[in-house]
Amino acid sequence: MDDCLFCKIVKGEIPTDRVYEDETTLAFRDINPQAPHHILVIPKEHYQGIHDVPTEKADILGSLFVAVGKVVKELALTDDGYRLVVNSGKNANQIVPHIHVHIFGGRSMTWPPG
Ligand code: 5GP
Ligand code: ZN
Repeated sequence: MDDCLFCKIVKGEIPTDRVYEDETTLAFRDINPQAPHHILVIPKEHYQGIHDVPTEKADILGSLFVAVGKVVKELALTDDGYRLVVNSGKNANQIVPHIHVHIFGGRSMTWPPG
């Protein structure tokens, strides 16, 4: 989508600190990190929410979480642990309407989230 920030990042029109990329997925550091490691993992194809991905495109979601696994291993977050967050819609405070999995790592976190 032309006016989508994360689609622009996929196209390389906005520079980012990329940590992982494959054919369908991109991971980069959040511009406003909320933890020592704060990575966003996105499908390259534009969908606003998980619920918008049609069944025939389910591979995109599989690849997304396989990429998450690679990133947390690469950043050595698996021993101490990490948190994944997918904000969806206004109640969840989704600011960028392109599916993204937040990875938070490098500090302990509280529960429940705010
Ligand atoms: P949301 O609230 O939609 O789940 O999270 C969007 C995230 O995108 C926020 O954590 C915000 O800091 C991050 N973000 C917004 N603009 C940019 C940008 O231009 N570059 C990067 N790397 N992250 C961004
Ligand atoms: Zn997009």
